[in-house]
Amino acid sequence: MEERGILIVVSGFSGAGKGTIMKRLLEKYGSDYALSISATTRDPRPGERNGREYFFRSVEEFEKMIAEEELIEYARYVENYYGTPRSYVEEKLAEGKDVILEIEIQGALKVKEKFPDTLLLFVTPPSTEELRNRLTGRGTETEEVIESRMRRASEEAKFMDRYDYLIINDVLENCVEEMHQIIRGEHRRSYRNTDFIEYMKKELKGE
Ligand code: 5GP
Repeated sequence: MEERGILIVVSGFSGAGKGTIMKRLLEKYGSDYALSISATTRDPRPGERNGREYFFRSVEEFEKMIAEEELIEYARYVENYYGTPRSYVEEKLAEGKDVILEIEIQGALKVKEKFPDTLLLFVTPPSTEELRNRLTGRGTETEEVIESRMRRASEEAKFMDRYDYLIINDVLENCVEEMHQIIRGEHRRSYRNTDFIEYMKKELKGE
């Protein structure tokens, strides 16, 4: 049975380990998934490459993409635009890949509104203490930046219950496996298999 892919949104607190989980999921099960690359107006960080982490665009270029409806969703986050290009997502879903958008909450909720069968996953460390440890553990952030991220996390936590599943990032390998299994299970939801149900009904009636 040829199946269309599922659109999956992954959000989570800064420091929750989303990036690491995505990387491992793709290493293990890369042929099932396609990771969407967003467009952004923020500057590239050292080591980032245009077309790999993001499509880095000027504000003018980004606003042109908005006007021409080339983005599924976009949001402003910390003074910059971020958005999901439409064509790649549609192409990969049609090929049967599950397409993952790693985006923040405003964008996630917009995608869910537009495409209600999107699977929303929220990545969180097992405790606030662990979140703080991870933000400190990067070693690159000042106390002020850490506090501001903790405050943002507190704002973001208000929307956790809008997500379909929580992904608790405790032990990486378990967490990746659990995420993959949740997605496999999602493929078996009856409302995603109406053609198969119709086929079974017909066959059993002897038609
Ligand atoms: P960063 O600048 O650290 O790479 O990303 C900042 C935030 O923007 C992260 O929460 C990331 O998930 C989110 N983000 C990245 N791409 C998109 C996008 O296309 N749309 C939205 N709404 N958020 C995005």
